[in-house]
Amino acid sequence: MASVWSGMDMPDLDLKRYERQTRLSGWGVETQQRLKGSRVFVAGAGGLGCPAALNLALAGVGHIRVCDFDTVEISNLNRQFLYTEQSIGTNKAKSAQEALFSLNPEIDVEPVSDEITAHNVDDLVADAEVVIDCLDNFRTRHVLNLCAVTKGIPMVHGAIWGLEGRVIFLHPPSTPCLACIFPKTPPQEKSPAVGAVSCAIGSVQALETIKYLTGVGSVSTGRMLLLDFSTMKFQELEVTEDPRCPVCGQLGTGTE
Ligand SMILES: [Zn+2]
Repeated sequence: MASVWSGMDMPDLDLKRYERQTRLSGWGVETQQRLKGSRVFVAGAGGLGCPAALNLALAGVGHIRVCDFDTVEISNLNRQFLYTEQSIGTNKAKSAQEALFSLNPEIDVEPVSDEITAHNVDDLVADAEVVIDCLDNFRTRHVLNLCAVTKGIPMVHGAIWGLEGRVIFLHPPSTPCLACIFPKTPPQEKSPAVGAVSCAIGSVQALETIKYLTGVGSVSTGRMLLLDFSTMKFQELEVTEDPRCPVCGQLGTGTE
């Protein structure tokens, strides 16, 4: 059987690396090239950000900006697999960039060691086509949500609590935004965290992003995926836009 890149001359992309995924129906070489030109902002390089960024890098997303101001601690190492004991004390975004470069040097991973705030978020996200919410607090999540809604780009929200996790693809006005679903900012708490759970949720966030960028498959619009790994019961929760939402409520009204 002829490989999908037979006769293709694309010196800037090592297509052998991506052979198995380009065999997927609808993916192909052109889609792989599109992925190489894609820009994704990964907010947070912790338990969710490590698998999210890793899977983007492995798939060949060409420009990944990883943002985390935190430093690696030994208590991160049960789940944040881009880091080793040698990474302790170093900035997570920079250490993640080094790990991702060793896995796929063909892509551009840009580390950002700033804390995301209302003042810098627009510049940090810049011209990204998707933002992935791998954060651990709702205060910053709401800052990122407002930025994504304003720019008109999707945000892939993920979160874990112990053996449970959730994922949702948010892209108003065709879906709710984060503020429609979680209007309040709950107090910050340190959740119990198991590596296999955050790894699964972060990987699904990356997959939703890749599907959006490639057009392969369909993203989970209007449905929040709830995964309870303690019982292996997975559910979908239907979510709807709040027309009074202060963030996205004016979108889709046809007044512009
Ligand atoms: Zn909203």
